[in-house]
Amino acid sequence: MITRIPTKQIFVGHVPVGGDAPISVQSMTFSNTHDVAATVAQINRLHFAGCDIVRVAVPDMKDALALKSIKEQISLPLVADIHFNHKLALIAAEVVDCIRINPGNIGSKEKVREVVKACQERNIPIRIGVNSGSLEKEFDNKYGPTAEAMVASAEYNIKFLEDLGFSDIKISLKASDVQRTVAAYRMLRPKNNYPFHLGVTEAGTIFHATVKSAIGLGTLLLEGIGDTMRVSITGELEEEIKVARAILKDSGALPDGLNIISCPTCGRIEADLVSAVAQIEKRTAHIKTPLNVSVMGCVVNAIGEAAHADVAIAYGKGKGLIMVKGEVVANLDEHELVERFVQEVEKMAEASK
Ligand code: SF4
Repeated sequence: MITRIPTKQIFVGHVPVGGDAPISVQSMTFSNTHDVAATVAQINRLHFAGCDIVRVAVPDMKDALALKSIKEQISLPLVADIHFNHKLALIAAEVVDCIRINPGNIGSKEKVREVVKACQERNIPIRIGVNSGSLEKEFDNKYGPTAEAMVASAEYNIKFLEDLGFSDIKISLKASDVQRTVAAYRMLRPKNNYPFHLGVTEAGTIFHATVKSAIGLGTLLLEGIGDTMRVSITGELEEEIKVARAILKDSGALPDGLNIISCPTCGRIEADLVSAVAQIEKRTAHIKTPLNVSVMGCVVNAIGEAAHADVAIAYGKGKGLIMVKGEVVANLDEHELVERFVQEVEKMAEASK
């Protein structure tokens, strides 16, 4: 398990963020928010996929006015994403569970004061969402497109809210490249204890977004930085949640489901291991108990891996061994191995409930 850097805990609806709360997973709808049916349908898809908090864009008055009806039809905490127009934030603050703004682009201090007052009245937090693509000009001019500029913007906006007596804050520092993103979060972390929302923005299609997010978010998580996160993918909503959960699991931030160790195969293999692992992944996707399982192609490494696995398959020629906690429990024909393996995994998951 990782050791997390302690942060203040805030609540986005019923979901705690920061402190000792599990790192939550967020996503964002891509429907027109004022299309209530489409937005609710996307939120329900995200909920079903395992999302903890959902954000919707509110670019227009008709989007702000739709939030009440959306909120009535969903159970996930709802975040309204607002730029430039404080009137939209005031309407949103009456119904949502968190507002995402850049105080610097909302207009005058007086307008920010009104938004803060509205959030205080309903006891909802504000996310200061610093994005490398929309920094205040003064920081862009002074520091150029750097992590320093992002951190300066965050500190300016934090102070803006703190001066108004508001500290129910979480912060994101997103750039579209991994190095700047990681540098910015690292630089800001020692300067306050507000919870951080991690993300690499505009990360691209699933392949590139997965690689960028795994490196960027994975690096930060291993350093104990991060309280909630979003993986941005140009693609299907469910993929964002799947990738985020995999990053949390493989970084040790949130033990969840099977850790499948499978060999890459080589010229020694005498079984169809690729299709066996695909079947196992599919058939065990519902298991949430953290278990280590291994599926290995031959005796070279199979016994060693199996000795440390909860359940394992060691393939041989046309046959294979099923091992539980390092002990051989069955010697079966190749076509029987996946079925027995899944049974043993399900049995162990059930027993540890
Ligand atoms: S376990 Fe065996 S088949 Fe798999 S990669 Fe290693 S040597 Fe090759």
